[in-house]
Amino acid sequence: MKIDIMSLDLSELTEFMTSIGEKAFRAKQLYDWMHVKHVPLSEMSNISDKLKGILDEKCYFATPEEIKVQESRIDGTRKYLFKFADGNMVETVWMKYHHGNSVCISSQVGCRMGCSFCASTLDGLERNLTASEMLGQIYKVSNLTGERVSNIVVMGSGEPMDNYDNVVRFVRLVSDPGGLNISQRNITVSTCGLVPMMKKLADEKLQITLALSLHAVTDEKRREIMPIAKSYTISQLMDACSYYFDRTGRRITFEYSLIRGVNDTEPDAEGLIKLAGGVGAHVNLIPVNPVTERGYKESTREAVMAFKNKLEKKRINVTIRREMGRDIDGACGQLRRRYID
Ligand code: SAH
Repeated sequence: MKIDIMSLDLSELTEFMTSIGEKAFRAKQLYDWMHVKHVPLSEMSNISDKLKGILDEKCYFATPEEIKVQESRIDGTRKYLFKFADGNMVETVWMKYHHGNSVCISSQVGCRMGCSFCASTLDGLERNLTASEMLGQIYKVSNLTGERVSNIVVMGSGEPMDNYDNVVRFVRLVSDPGGLNISQRNITVSTCGLVPMMKKLADEKLQITLALSLHAVTDEKRREIMPIAKSYTISQLMDACSYYFDRTGRRITFEYSLIRGVNDTEPDAEGLIKLAGGVGAHVNLIPVNPVTERGYKESTREAVMAFKNKLEKKRINVTIRREMGRDIDGACGQLRRRYID
């Protein structure tokens, strides 16, 4: 087994370098090449050829290869299909906003959560991504675009809380002042609601935003569209949200994909007001994006606006997510691990 070198923090990397007979300062140089300058081994100019040979033989450098890129004609969003050394592929999305550039990364190859409106879960879960492979997606995108990344959303394919240790390691590495140094406040991790892991995450005392994919306000309806709802009730989810807020001081975001005739009625809005009000959550409404294999239709523009207005009247903090990259199947719930045939 090769050493997953880009997943090591500086002290672990130092330990590794000394174990192969190198001086400690080499670790800092290597860390800087990997996490600040993002260059391949061959371009690390102050590392000797001999050491490069050893590292090449012993280590896995997780930066993926670009297989394909699609650019939205509407908003300039780019969707990349990336391939890792073992042949597995994931999609990563780059979005330009007025306030900076966001990268949406995948946390798993595929997903096993089975949400009925989402494309990422269609072929099940293939494997978890390592922390380095999550970093690698960001480094690759920033190299390809030549631009600085300011925000990260872990909202691509995969369920981050189903790959907990790697995701937490990733957050620590990407926010490391000695690395890419992205503020934790600019990182959002989204979950379909694995209650024990949400609580565990709260105890890590990170400053990231936790987003909960709620999508329904009764257990009955939620169970129809999200299999995970059979394991955890909405009341348990709300407890976990309160706990997260108490421990971190960070407001939760609810993601709510509006599906025509399924969850966009008056009682749905009322239920959502109660839940969001109860835990002080910010609500992000997403008109559901089309997925060929799924039959759902997005709510009409009028229904979306009416839904939003109801929430606003009750002073719920609500936004409608701009659907970036829909024409390239790069929007929420449209990411896959292969070409669409
Ligand atoms: N597994 C995590 C991360 C995925 S984030 C989670 O469930 O939160 C992607 C977000 O897009 C989630 O809120 C997800 O529920 C939502 N989503 C999935 N399919 C969608 C679709 N077709 N249209 C709009 N949003 C969708």
